[in-house]
Amino acid sequence: MSKKNEADALKEELFFSPKHANYICTEKEIAAADKFCVDYMKYLNECRTEREACAYTIALAEKQGYKPFDKNAKYKAGDKVYSSIHNKAVILCTIGKKSAAEGVRILAAHIDSPRLDLKPNPLYEKAELGYFKTHYYGGIKKYQWPTIPLALHGVIYKQDGTQVNVRIGDAEGEPKFVITDLLPHLDKQQADRPMNKVIQGEELNILIGSRPFGKEPGDKMVKLALMKLLNEKYGIVEADFQSAELEAVPAYPATDIGFDRSLIGSYGHDDRVCAYPSIMAAFAVKKPEYTTVTVLTDKEETGSDGNTGLQSAYLKHFISDIGALEGVPGRDVIRNSQCLSADVNAGFDPTFPSVMEENNCAYLNRGIVLTKYTGGGGKYSTNDANAEFVSKIRIAFNNADVVWQTGELGKVDEGGGGTVAKYIANLGADVVDVGVPVLSMHAPYEVVAKTDVYMAFKGFKAFLEY
Ligand code: MN
Ligand code: MN
Repeated sequence: MSKKNEADALKEELFFSPKHANYICTEKEIAAADKFCVDYMKYLNECRTEREACAYTIALAEKQGYKPFDKNAKYKAGDKVYSSIHNKAVILCTIGKKSAAEGVRILAAHIDSPRLDLKPNPLYEKAELGYFKTHYYGGIKKYQWPTIPLALHGVIYKQDGTQVNVRIGDAEGEPKFVITDLLPHLDKQQADRPMNKVIQGEELNILIGSRPFGKEPGDKMVKLALMKLLNEKYGIVEADFQSAELEAVPAYPATDIGFDRSLIGSYGHDDRVCAYPSIMAAFAVKKPEYTTVTVLTDKEETGSDGNTGLQSAYLKHFISDIGALEGVPGRDVIRNSQCLSADVNAGFDPTFPSVMEENNCAYLNRGIVLTKYTGGGGKYSTNDANAEFVSKIRIAFNNADVVWQTGELGKVDEGGGGTVAKYIANLGADVVDVGVPVLSMHAPYEVVAKTDVYMAFKGFKAFLEY
């Protein structure tokens, strides 16, 4: 063997060299990924909000034979149950062959995404234009939200307690809404603002109409005409906004991106790109050894507070109820449990390379990214998964031919962020972050690679089964 060939062989044996999924997967598997993503894109289009994701997931689950969980019922291995958490989060569970005392396998993804919520008193008129006031939800770059078409989704509760569902702006022929921006001819002052103030919170006002009521000029006639339309369409009066949750989200569907159609552009990949593969993995595992618990949570984007977020006790209580079915204390279930916190990480963007450390960041098409720790600074505010657990996941992924990579969220001290991992780890379970790399995370139009979405499904299934 020549010196050069010897070196190449040694490199092959000793070096770690992550590869594009296309070099690893068969054509058949790439086709399977493309097919999987057709249904994922349907999920994205149906589920624009956490409420819609919760309801749609339950509808899918019921078709698979899932029943509402009853803590007083008797269950056997393979039985499938679900629990809705205030209609904004949902747990899917398949009873395992092993006792809950040996722990459960938890997949945790979130179904809320950054967006603009309407304020409790949103409707106003200025200069004979009608608007909704908003309060942004989650970490958005505010300048990205003007001059894109918006839809409105949510619920309104009337004084008599009846619920009205709102979903307008996405379907063919429906009107859309928009936030306006200054023209470049007059933006001298705006151009001097720092990036986070180019558009400010109180400038995120949604234009909703401009034609006044009747033929007699008067005060607030545009507002009146709009309120009359809303009354006719939804049966509401202005005070009903007080008991509503209305969310403005981008009004365009998920689409293929690129000549090769290898990517998907959409609103809400974070974190439906992990939620959907988690659901499909839960469905695919028919009679698991360990009880599987797939939790799709709300409020991740605002810190997981509130009774539908994972800082609340709802997951702990559900797991306790699973243990109680066989008289096992919840703490004994949780201490033996394992969890993948299924959330996105930033993909390397060659246009903005300076924020990434190239040996320790995720790349599109190199599969799902295992993020040992998130947080910021000196590993503050993170679950730093222990090597023992990472080893188990590494072996499980490799045994199942999952294409995966490791990555950190950016360079040390560049910024930071976190997921729900630490809240589940704080209960005592083993947890590590695994998810899909995303470009333009939190933008109204994020990008992921199809092979990575499919590897999320494959990896999550491998985790539930190993
Ligand atoms: Mn996320
Ligand atoms: Mn996020």
